[in-house]
Amino acid sequence: MRSSQYFMPTLKETPSEAEIVSHRLMLRAGMIRQSSAGIYSWLPMGLRVLKNIEQIVREEQNAIGCQEVLMPTIQPADLWRQSGRYDDYGPEMLRIRDRRDRDMLYGPTNEEQITEMFAASQRSYRDVPKLLYHIQWKFRDEIRPRFGVMRGREFLMKDAYSFDLDAEAARRSYNKMFVSYLRTYERMGLTAIPMAADTGPIGGDMSHEFLILAETGESEIACHKDLLDKRWADRAIDFESDLQPIVDEFTSQYAATDEMRDPEQEKALGGDLVTARGIEVGHIFYFGTKYSEKLGAVVTDHDGKEVTVEMGSYGIGVSRLVGGIIEASHDENGIIWPESVAPFHVGLINLKAGDGKTTAACDDLYGKLRAAGVEVLYDDREGRAGQKFADMDLIGLPWQLIVGPRGLDNGVVELKNRASGEREELSPESALAQLTG
Ligand code: ATP
Ligand code: MG
Repeated sequence: MRSSQYFMPTLKETPSEAEIVSHRLMLRAGMIRQSSAGIYSWLPMGLRVLKNIEQIVREEQNAIGCQEVLMPTIQPADLWRQSGRYDDYGPEMLRIRDRRDRDMLYGPTNEEQITEMFAASQRSYRDVPKLLYHIQWKFRDEIRPRFGVMRGREFLMKDAYSFDLDAEAARRSYNKMFVSYLRTYERMGLTAIPMAADTGPIGGDMSHEFLILAETGESEIACHKDLLDKRWADRAIDFESDLQPIVDEFTSQYAATDEMRDPEQEKALGGDLVTARGIEVGHIFYFGTKYSEKLGAVVTDHDGKEVTVEMGSYGIGVSRLVGGIIEASHDENGIIWPESVAPFHVGLINLKAGDGKTTAACDDLYGKLRAAGVEVLYDDREGRAGQKFADMDLIGLPWQLIVGPRGLDNGVVELKNRASGEREELSPESALAQLTG
């Protein structure tokens, strides 16, 4: 993509309405545009990142045998009357009436809808376990939408649901999801710490929030320092095996947020305790038969006896992660995208767009990179070098390939790594080899 043609309305000034760095940087880099409070349009660069995150989430869900569906955003109120949540949900739910005076709503979550879908066709123990997910926009009329996409009113969520014959099988589904979450976040360059969460009136120990550390996080967290160093993406994991030992590896170490914190345990940890602020980027929950009972999700077991299925739900804040990753990865000059989610791999900078020789060299590199399947943003605009460097640092692509007339006279271009700031002069051929290798 050529910058001269790209729809990327960057801002020079820091927008005054943005309180936190990710919101400021997303607006300055031209990734999003606010439509109304907590509701945003995603511009090309922002959408690229959102799609990359979505794709990692999708791949890791598919890897555990979770099947993708797509349910509508608009749901009939009757479903929620059946579960009893229509009245409970309160003003966060956006309620709509259609032309025939039927009560509808914009889904804040999908337990009712998916349970009804399961119940309509699944009949026996042979139909379970089932893991289903979708990646769909949600609406919650948050009392205080803020921090840009981090707490929006309309936001993109991956929500998955498990259906099992009994509690033991439900635990296996839960564990699969738990371990898959560890991998999902790590692939995005994040350290996400699972924290036991309050399960409310249902009780039990089967609810975890996944938090990433950031000064601007809304939750106060405390955990054993070892949880910050665990690495998962490279481990070969057989998801059909018993995953309890892996889950125990995490849940046996102290980690807590808000009302779950325990002063006694924290004192005992001494120097091993880390306290910080965190952003919730996922939440998994086992809730038994809460919805299956109300919506008739029943299957027959091996003896022909009817059993109400055991369920869990598993959310990831896909659009929140765009902001979350920036909170975790930026410096004073702008965003530093992890390779796996970056909108482009390389930013190619033409330092003298009016100069025939420089432009020919840039066009050549651009063509070769694209031919090799590398995603490039090519700054082919006329303008000051300083401004181009600042823009490129701001949008945070992993690599910058800088081409100017002086370097070319000596047969070199410059390659800069955004994260480390390291610069290297090398021949155009070596630069290509490094970027396509
Ligand atoms: P929170 O406590 O932050 O309001 P929640 O407990 O309401 O979150 P869930 O219902 O578990 O969230 O939703 C699953 C995930 O969706 C959350 O972990 C979070 O990452 C994301 N999420 C929830 N609300 C919002 C929002 N208003 N804007 C963006 N993402 C959100
Ligand atoms: Mg909420």
